[in-house]
Amino acid sequence: RQEETLEEENLESSPLAGSNVMNVILVAAECAPWSKTGGLGDVVGDLPKALARRGHRVMVVVPKYGNYLEAKEVGVLKRYKVDGQDFEVRYHHAYIDSVDFVFIESAAFRHIGNDIYGGNRRDVWKRMILFCKAAVEIPWYVPCGGACYGDGNLVFIANDWHTSLLPVYLQAYYRNNGLMIYARSVLVVHNIAHQGRGPLEDFSCLNLPDHYVDLFKIYDPVGGEHLNMFAAGLKCADRVVTVSHGYAWELKTSEGGWGLDRIIKEIDWKFQGIVNGINTKIWNPKFDSHLTFDGYTNYDLETLQVGKAQCKAALQRELGLPVRDDVPIIAFIGRLDGQKGIDLIADAMHWFVGKDLQLVMLGTGRADLEYMLRKFQNEHPNKVRAWVGFSVELAHRITAGADVLLMPSRFEPCGLNQLYAMMYGTVPVVHAVGGLRDTVQQYDPFSETGLGWTFDTAESHKMIDAVSHCLRTYQNHRESWEALQVRGMLQDFSWDNAAQQYEQVLVAAKYQW
Ligand code: ADP
Repeated sequence: RQEETLEEENLESSPLAGSNVMNVILVAAECAPWSKTGGLGDVVGDLPKALARRGHRVMVVVPKYGNYLEAKEVGVLKRYKVDGQDFEVRYHHAYIDSVDFVFIESAAFRHIGNDIYGGNRRDVWKRMILFCKAAVEIPWYVPCGGACYGDGNLVFIANDWHTSLLPVYLQAYYRNNGLMIYARSVLVVHNIAHQGRGPLEDFSCLNLPDHYVDLFKIYDPVGGEHLNMFAAGLKCADRVVTVSHGYAWELKTSEGGWGLDRIIKEIDWKFQGIVNGINTKIWNPKFDSHLTFDGYTNYDLETLQVGKAQCKAALQRELGLPVRDDVPIIAFIGRLDGQKGIDLIADAMHWFVGKDLQLVMLGTGRADLEYMLRKFQNEHPNKVRAWVGFSVELAHRITAGADVLLMPSRFEPCGLNQLYAMMYGTVPVVHAVGGLRDTVQQYDPFSETGLGWTFDTAESHKMIDAVSHCLRTYQNHRESWEALQVRGMLQDFSWDNAAQQYEQVLVAAKYQW
């Protein structure tokens, strides 16, 4: 009770209540459901809504890659020059769930589809430079609900290297000239492995004063001195957030910082981890619209065992696997690249196919890994299904129908799939790194606590050990298994908690001079 009172008092005395309502503009290269290649898209689709629920005026700015019927053109035309080329820019607006979504239309973004980071490096840079130049001016030019945001009480939230020029432009173009002096910027690190690296001579296409080059310079033993977009954003932003506590710690190590660890350590005073939330309406077995498909069913805590069994049979049928209730389905969903540890699964394939289980993998990415998955499927058609491609529907149905979700990621800033899995009573087996370490507590059979199985080094024999323990509980200790499923489903992974922490960061940025 004492603790509760303290908490209540803290909330009441918090500077966030009432008078600190802010104008927040979240700027990102992707936003679900319109554009998504991974977790960033989900976060950009959901965090703003949670901030809006707390009373802030919130806008999301994202490139317009396709035809978005719900968005209307606002009738503003601007021109920007990037690397000597003129670009015309128009703006489309939609107001959904109390959030202003602004889509920037330009020839540079047309025909990109879902290949958001594709193309040669210089073209990708041009797109991101154009995007940041236009985004930083939006509070003045783009009316939302009849009025522009203006620059008072304004905080930009930039995301990853693609938008880390925004804090730099805010400083160089405006604040250094006595403009937008009350506007602040927060940069969120979703994945440090991609940094926007380029040769020093490309500095000229950024249109910045000469002395700004120092902010971008990084020395790398392999590539020598180069330009680094992320480095400059980290230095210029008023606050820096990353998506879990585990990853915040890893970013300061030479292994986890990918060459930027020194900078992260220098900015530690303005840096912190906040674990991502998830959209508990979209990723909820009770309401999931993708489970109304052929044979699947919605379920909740009360109907978990029956509902999940029905989804499992439907998944086996949909994927052409033998329909058997007694065989465990282990699933993998994710981008096929080095990060996700798909090579560990490949190394363990002989073990998997020697067991009575079914392995379902959904992913797209590196051509060699896609080929490898198809090969495993061809060699073991009764045990392995590899669905190569990007399918949100199938991701939902696999999450519902599988018994176990495997995430052997070599590194994982936050990871959303393990959170989705737990919401669906699907038990995660994960490499204990970054956000996976924060969110999946190892199961302990003695105290009957924990949420899944973890292994501490990215080696296939460690993964096999963890999966074996998991399957033993699945097969021999049904009560413990069902209790594990229920514990996962009872976790609160909603955005509300994370949004409150983001709000504290916004306030800290606001009061910083
Ligand atoms: P990351 O952002 O590193 O890709 P996360 O686990 O944070 O990893 O988020 C991945 C998101 O992308 C999840 O919503 C997941 O369901 C989705 N996803 C990844 N690959 C696919 C795919 N092939 N088809 C559908 N959804 C996918």
